[in-house]
Amino acid sequence: MMKAYIEEAEKALLHTYNRYQVVLDRGDGVYLYDIEGKRYLDFVSGIAVFALGYHNREYNDGLKEQIDKLIHTSNYYYNVPAIEAAKKLKKVSGMDRVFFTNSGAEAVEGAIKAARKYAYLRDGHTGHEIIAMNHSFHGRTMGALSVTGNPKYREAFEPMIGNIKFAEMNDFESVEALVSDRTCGIIFETVQGEGGIYPAAREFMEKVKALCEERDILLILDEIQCGMGRTGYMYAWQKYGIRPDIMTTAKALGCGVPVGAFLMTEKTAQHSLTSGDHGTTYGGNPLAAAAVSRVLDLFEENHILENVNSVAPYLESRLDELVAGYDFVEARRGAGLLQGLVFTRPVGEVINRALDKGLLLINAGTHIIRFVPPLVITREDVDHMMRILKECLADLT
Ligand SMILES: *Cc1c(COP(=O)(O)O)cnc(C)c1O
Repeated sequence: MMKAYIEEAEKALLHTYNRYQVVLDRGDGVYLYDIEGKRYLDFVSGIAVFALGYHNREYNDGLKEQIDKLIHTSNYYYNVPAIEAAKKLKKVSGMDRVFFTNSGAEAVEGAIKAARKYAYLRDGHTGHEIIAMNHSFHGRTMGALSVTGNPKYREAFEPMIGNIKFAEMNDFESVEALVSDRTCGIIFETVQGEGGIYPAAREFMEKVKALCEERDILLILDEIQCGMGRTGYMYAWQKYGIRPDIMTTAKALGCGVPVGAFLMTEKTAQHSLTSGDHGTTYGGNPLAAAAVSRVLDLFEENHILENVNSVAPYLESRLDELVAGYDFVEARRGAGLLQGLVFTRPVGEVINRALDKGLLLINAGTHIIRFVPPLVITREDVDHMMRILKECLADLT
């Protein structure tokens, strides 16, 4: 049955993904089921999206209620779910103003426009520069792609938007060397996800923040993957005692409903995008906003951060066993429930074996297995994952 669907998919869908050979059907908690009824322990959660676990009744009911009331209206009118979602998002992030988007990439687009507009108002001219990081990932639209530090993703689509320079993450001198009077923003992920799970070093974060303040440059932190509780903080930058000028969020923000946002400080908002500068038809519509609102309520009610902070050290210690136990497992790095296990060889085979044995894993680059489970996992789920993963590794030795 799955095979027939996969064949149809390959005839109908544009082949932009090398998909795993499975057709998923439904979810329950930390488990997914394929259309033949096989169960999978999910350590991917739709790539850091489904934080609350599948089939969460309160989340589903929140959406159903909103569907029966109002799914969409134009941003030319106010709607209560968007107002409530924005208020809650401000509270958990400590930022001042919210613009809802439909995706992460669009949140990055908005952040770039805001930074350019800020500098335009400041200097009275255009042509400003943005500094981004090598190995970064910010999305696939042209602006977001332009600040993505992976030439392979960009090459065929040149020219990118102009005036982007790339520095090295966690190498402050490399950033400083690129700063000029034209720099309007410095953008990076607080924890690089796609590029290999590299958390920002504290000293790097502090120095970049100080540089930004001194030179009136906007610090833009991409929290699309590492935000929403994943590192044990609502937003990963909150650990560093700094605040960005602009922040992007998406993925787990809607827990499955496509929604993102960029947020800014009041000062940035007062001196950047204004009426007519930016818009979106769907962004922050009542259904998406109701999802955000309910997700943020459930994070609090279900003590999601507490769970991350209690389970993550256990996951770390169990993964460290693998670093100690297998010579082809080189290192572990990450923060909270965003962890990477670095191999000396490509990990595709391990991931395929895990799939066979009922465990979903995903890579970050060719040599790293990325662990991004739902934020509601327990130690028992970690043990379950480890049993399967160890079987897969034993097959390799
Ligand atoms: C996934 C991701 C994006 C892009 O988000 P989309 O919703 O896929 O457009 C941007 N930045 C980071 C850090 C991401 O992980």
